[in-house]
Amino acid sequence: MTKAYDPYENMLHVMQTAADTLGLKDSDYEIFKYPERELKVSVPVTMDNGTVRVFDGYRVQHSTLRGPAKGGIRFHPNVDMQEVKALAAWMSIKCAIADIPYGGGKGGVCVDVQQLSEGELERLTRGYTARIAPIIGEDTDIPAPDVNTNGQTMAWIMDTYSKVSGQYTPGVVTGKPVEIGGSVGRTEATGRGVMICAHEMVEREGLAASQCKVAVQGAGNVGMTAARLMQETGFTIVALSDISGGIYKESGLDTREIAEYLSVKGRLLRDYQADGVTHITNEQVLSCKCDLLVPAAMENQITASNAEEVRAHMIVEGANGPTTTEADAILADKGILVVPDVLANSGGVIVSYFEWVQNRQMYYWEEEEVNDRLQQKMLHAFEQVYKVAKKYKVSLRQGAYMIALQRLVAASRMRGIFL
Ligand code: GLU
Repeated sequence: MTKAYDPYENMLHVMQTAADTLGLKDSDYEIFKYPERELKVSVPVTMDNGTVRVFDGYRVQHSTLRGPAKGGIRFHPNVDMQEVKALAAWMSIKCAIADIPYGGGKGGVCVDVQQLSEGELERLTRGYTARIAPIIGEDTDIPAPDVNTNGQTMAWIMDTYSKVSGQYTPGVVTGKPVEIGGSVGRTEATGRGVMICAHEMVEREGLAASQCKVAVQGAGNVGMTAARLMQETGFTIVALSDISGGIYKESGLDTREIAEYLSVKGRLLRDYQADGVTHITNEQVLSCKCDLLVPAAMENQITASNAEEVRAHMIVEGANGPTTTEADAILADKGILVVPDVLANSGGVIVSYFEWVQNRQMYYWEEEEVNDRLQQKMLHAFEQVYKVAKKYKVSLRQGAYMIALQRLVAASRMRGIFL
């Protein structure tokens, strides 16, 4: 029987393999196996009908060795401590690869947002913020959007934190709306980064985007933006899915039209109709005939039980942790190249960093500058990961973790252990 999926175990396994390849001593990286701080809070919310419900919330700081903890907050029924711990560790790795001056953190609330009214959601967000306020701050731990949270959520967090601390503090959170100190380009940044990685991968394989058919799992901010930008830059998007199922069109979907369709709250892909579009299952999106697959939904999607069916020869991970370690081995055997999450979806946190820099300077950049700098950082990170992977004859994921570990270990050695 296969063991139940544990995202933190998954992370530890990849880290351990990278440490072995680098020949690190246990004492060099022992501390990275444990988050620095784990906070669990109970958040009472007065519901619209007058009853009180209490939600479980978490904030984990995996590492603050390279800078303040940084990472999103997700609202999802699957959120628990193991998941938040894994997501926090992935942020430490991601920020180290992107070489931005942050450690890693993550937060979450176990909740089904579909069941809440706008008012309930606001009260939940503010209650959660007040409870994690003692450990967040612009120089300590900086949240951002993640699954089911967005600019509005960040606005409530910034407002609550500013009120509680008695000081206007835009830099306590990133991914804010531009009207209140957000950065232009932040909303699309993760999807844009995925698009940049897809082009890099394809080019290095000697292909042109115009020759590549792409399937995208997930039509949220990351998946939908990646699909749209990839189509705009020459790829053919043949499949796309959301929680309700998938759609397929061999000659290519119209992603701009789909994005517009989905922008109306409550609409789902299962009800989308257009010429030549057929409806398929979420599983079929992962295994459909395409050259490049972008899992951009949740973790634990490409597993030992479906990896064999993947027909794409390249994968660019838009989501965090979509591929299990067992699946990774199967994909490698099949010769499928994987641009790992910690590189492929780092566009979001890179522009979060730009937002934080702008907040601290109280000086705001033009969109072109944001996008150019994002591209520069992503290409640089990609090149470094690619080189290390080639040199050690390992996967891009291993290469990425090796770079991150080297940087984390270097910081740890220099700072030493305080008592
Ligand atoms: N939630 C995003 C991620 O997983 C963004 C984090 C951030 O911008 O801090 O990378």
